[in-house]
Amino acid sequence: MRFRLLPLLAAASLAISVSAAAEASDKASAAEPVKAVASFSILADMVRNVGGDRVEVTELVGPDGDAHEFNPTPADAKKLARADIFFVNGLGFEGWMERLETSSGFKGATVVASTGVTPRTMQEEHGDHVSGDDHDAGHEEHAEEHDHDHGDMDPHAWQDLANGEIYVANIRDGLIAADPGGKAIYEANAEKYLAALKAEDAAVKTALGALPQSRRRIITSHDAFGYFGDAYGLEILAPEGVSKASEPSAKDVATIIRQIRKDKIPAVFLENVTNAKILEQIATESGAKIGGTLYSDALSGPDGPAPTYLDMFRHNAGTLTAALSS
Ligand SMILES: [Zn+2]
Repeated sequence: MRFRLLPLLAAASLAISVSAAAEASDKASAAEPVKAVASFSILADMVRNVGGDRVEVTELVGPDGDAHEFNPTPADAKKLARADIFFVNGLGFEGWMERLETSSGFKGATVVASTGVTPRTMQEEHGDHVSGDDHDAGHEEHAEEHDHDHGDMDPHAWQDLANGEIYVANIRDGLIAADPGGKAIYEANAEKYLAALKAEDAAVKTALGALPQSRRRIITSHDAFGYFGDAYGLEILAPEGVSKASEPSAKDVATIIRQIRKDKIPAVFLENVTNAKILEQIATESGAKIGGTLYSDALSGPDGPAPTYLDMFRHNAGTLTAALSS
């Protein structure tokens, strides 16, 4: 009799001390969801997909926001202070992250979603995407300017869905470590989501694979699509470099215009997170058409064309193929 009662007593005391249970690593008996903060909207969507109802996700840089030039406010520090777990991209994307962690007094776990990704470097970018001595010189100036803040890594790894799969695995493992009671749920959600990412990856490869070789070089405002280009077979030139920390020089713009004419580059693409002005100038002066708006570093709002990570790929691939196949 005594032995049969013990588990019941244990269960009863667990139910009463909900806050104690929440403080322990297992939240299964607590009604409160895990509080997660994600640094930007794309990552927040991934965390929502893996966390489901069990995780409450807050994002710091929201739809159409620019995470490169973000200045956290005291309200952001409060959001982080309350969180159990903080998801960041890494690869130098969130230059403001460590200061925010310190000032907020955040005590939870930080998960770097890009851990395990093979990073592209600025150097690779010069070799792959730039032809002509003139342009090389222009870009090296850029690299030096950006080195201090961002290192030489290209942070936009999420633009390759195969890397997105690595992000999702890291998110799943981070959530399990923070909330072991949710392990089965996180694993099931991640498995379903990973299958959707794989299917979309194949769809983008098929869609862009149909483009003629002569129409695979494009211009975007800032260099956010290096991983996308490597994965899906496009060459991307960008006057603003990887981090958007500074405006392109007149010389950079002139070089791009010359290159569009020389290589007959068919289209330039605006981005949801950058000022359209420079690209519009480039399009006007070079005669290239504006192929539409790509989503690079942030999702759209819920009513826009790219409210989720998967929608972003559908929209970008659709925009690219529509502009480049005709
Ligand atoms: Zn960017």
